[in-house]
Amino acid sequence: MNPIHFILLSVFISCIHVSESARQRVVIISLDGVGWQYIGGRFANTPNLDAIKQDGVHADYIQNVFPTVTWPNHHSMLTGLYAESHGIVGNMFWDPVYKQEFHIGYDCTNYDNKFWNASEPVWLTLQKNGGHSGVFIWPGYNGYPEKPSYYEKPVCNINCSSVYSWVPPSAINYNCISNLSVPLRSRIDKVMSWLTSKVNSPTFVAMQFGDADLQGHNYGPNSPQYKAGVEQLDRDIVGYFMSSLRDTGLENETNVIFVSDHSFVETSSSRQFYLSDYLDSDSYHGLVETTLAHIIPKAGKEEEIYKNLTANKHPNITVYKKDEIPDMLHWKNNRRIPPIFLLADSGFVIAKERPLVSKNWTKGTHGYSNQEKNMWPIFLATGPAFRSGYKVEPFQNVDLYPLICHFVGVEPRPHNGSFERVKQILKKFDTKSGQQKLSAGNLSTLVATVFLVQLFYN
Ligand SMILES: [Zn+2]
Repeated sequence: MNPIHFILLSVFISCIHVSESARQRVVIISLDGVGWQYIGGRFANTPNLDAIKQDGVHADYIQNVFPTVTWPNHHSMLTGLYAESHGIVGNMFWDPVYKQEFHIGYDCTNYDNKFWNASEPVWLTLQKNGGHSGVFIWPGYNGYPEKPSYYEKPVCNINCSSVYSWVPPSAINYNCISNLSVPLRSRIDKVMSWLTSKVNSPTFVAMQFGDADLQGHNYGPNSPQYKAGVEQLDRDIVGYFMSSLRDTGLENETNVIFVSDHSFVETSSSRQFYLSDYLDSDSYHGLVETTLAHIIPKAGKEEEIYKNLTANKHPNITVYKKDEIPDMLHWKNNRRIPPIFLLADSGFVIAKERPLVSKNWTKGTHGYSNQEKNMWPIFLATGPAFRSGYKVEPFQNVDLYPLICHFVGVEPRPHNGSFERVKQILKKFDTKSGQQKLSAGNLSTLVATVFLVQLFYN
């Protein structure tokens, strides 16, 4: 063979190897609302998560983004962006340009790309690069015109593409919703059918399970119901998924990450703050989500509202003007962040009005500052690429994005995460066992380079 042809062939082979070795399957599973302080026998017994801790890697906890609620955090994990940058700044918010409210879950705004177009989740980037993905009810999967290669189709009462009308779910049941009545193991079976697909099986899969979150909200994190919810996820999601991988022979080619989006704290009827005690309800447009409140003052009312809220300040509620919001929250630079914002201390809740009949209750909630450790999520991972029995220092959930990009072989888009902070959880970056391992792709490149150098000097 002519040396030039050989060089070209080597480079070509090396390129093929790089793209093959660069794409490794990764599945991320979110156990919504499962807090780090409640697993591993500290409250709930989670033998399947404990086994992953032994076999794979784990952190005691990781830090989520502010606000510590479901929608912003799930979108941060797949985009690597803080909420102010990806634009899903809460489970609910007001967009002053569109003059529309955004609401999680049921609402058509989840299907309306103009709320989502500031960012691109990794599954979409992978597909734009010729890969295949699967998304099982991960918040935001319907916000883009292109759908995941595999996804669970929602059930809709109205056609979201033709109408905008937010109707409280209790009034009309729902606009569009994922079918959550399917048993947990059947949901895993569905995802396994994607993974075992003979053609175009997904390289990346994201799944979210909100079952323990529901119990946490309704009964509080110290309740037997929440404990049972966490233990059921451990059994029917963690345990069942790992055994399904073993049964289908996919265990050695699938990397699995278990995370959550937030933890829970207990709250009670004795720790409430009522906006109606301070404000005239006609003076503002408000969105209240237990731990926080977005206040959009009517024209000319901002100073009056701020004065009313701060003159006789509640000791456990912090009132911010938009430009006073602490930088460390990374929650300021977006038009959807309201002119006045209220944040409760851990354990306290905000409501618009006093109830007509007051009852005593204990429940659970989340959404407090992400500087509060009691809001932090779990992280555990296992699979062929991960080290074994390794504990990593706590990192941020936006770091998961460059990690996933590394697995699926796509160039990360601009993001707030850091691959450097997490890469030591991978075997190939295990510095204790010597140099970074040479991949097949690197090897071909090396052969080609050596050949070139030899040719040059001969
Ligand atoms: Zn959640």
